[in-house]
Amino acid sequence: MADIEFVDLRSDTVTKPTPEMREAMAEAEVGDDVYGDDPTVNQLQVKAAEMLGKEAALFVPSGTMGNLLALLVHCSRGEEVICGDKSHIYVNEAGGMAVVGGIYPHPVPNQKDGTLRLEDIRASIQPDDQHRTITRLICLENTQNACGGVVLSVDYTQQVGQFAKENGLNLHIDGARIFNAAAALGVDVKELVAPADSVMFCLSKGLSAPVGSMLVGGKDFIARAHRLRKMLGGGMRQVGVLAAAGMISLEKMTGRLKQDHARAKNLFEGLKQVPGLRLEAEPSSNMVYFTLEDQVKLTENQIIAEMKKHGVLVDWSAPREFRLVTHYWVDDDGVEKTVKALGNVLK
Ligand SMILES: *Cc1c(COP(=O)(O)O)cnc(C)c1O
Repeated sequence: MADIEFVDLRSDTVTKPTPEMREAMAEAEVGDDVYGDDPTVNQLQVKAAEMLGKEAALFVPSGTMGNLLALLVHCSRGEEVICGDKSHIYVNEAGGMAVVGGIYPHPVPNQKDGTLRLEDIRASIQPDDQHRTITRLICLENTQNACGGVVLSVDYTQQVGQFAKENGLNLHIDGARIFNAAAALGVDVKELVAPADSVMFCLSKGLSAPVGSMLVGGKDFIARAHRLRKMLGGGMRQVGVLAAAGMISLEKMTGRLKQDHARAKNLFEGLKQVPGLRLEAEPSSNMVYFTLEDQVKLTENQIIAEMKKHGVLVDWSAPREFRLVTHYWVDDDGVEKTVKALGNVLK
């Protein structure tokens, strides 16, 4: 296939459907999902709920919509969500919670390990006072993308869940890559999300489906999210063609993410040998971050262009910083090719 000539490390969102997915998509049984008639979507929703140990699930077009639906169900206008200052919902979702929901984000610092300190969360809860907003929700992100794809532990998630309960708050997990987190920890994803009232995860990233995310939670929560999905224009029709790929994500792709993590480690080790690059923490999942040393005179865009000539697509994440993401379509040769190419480009 022409699309695997490039080693594409820009993100795991670039993953195209596997041949098995394309076949399943072509053969999918479909119906009008707004009538609840699409058997493949229904099957996917049951499967996702079961795998995450929750009552119900909803197929949504994107992770952003899944998170927004969760925020809209948990919080009313003028209510507040405590979230990380590097969290996707705070930084990368176009302020949807505020624009659409009148929901007020209360950012607290993401620590290097992706966590929010319990003291910081505690200090962020608003007192019952007419001058203040009303705190309703805590949102964690796992893996924490902007902190390096770092993984929050079962223990930490339980602590936050316990804390939320004691304070009458709900807990939502932006688990775009929750299966990467579970794979990295070697635990069942159920255990990892048990303390959460709701979880969003993406089928379209490391799980390689072309489109779609899942929102999971209690029956009533999902019923309310379902109505809001329609309002936001996310009621889709014969969408079993997408759900069929999602089924393969859940059945076949969750078990192989460890390979992506192993390749990220190999890539990290390889890049450590390349002069001009500074690599700090070993990758905890499928993301490798590096910084350009001062001696490197090329700009980010020059490096991107040169790497492309070598058949490798990369992207920068901040000035002088790059993020490389491994996934299904990056094999051992791709890792080797990338290390060699960067060595040549920076020579
Ligand atoms: C990708 C991502 C999302 C949003 O998913 P889209 O499908 O791109 O809308 C949400 N949270 C995190 C942490 C992500 O990485």
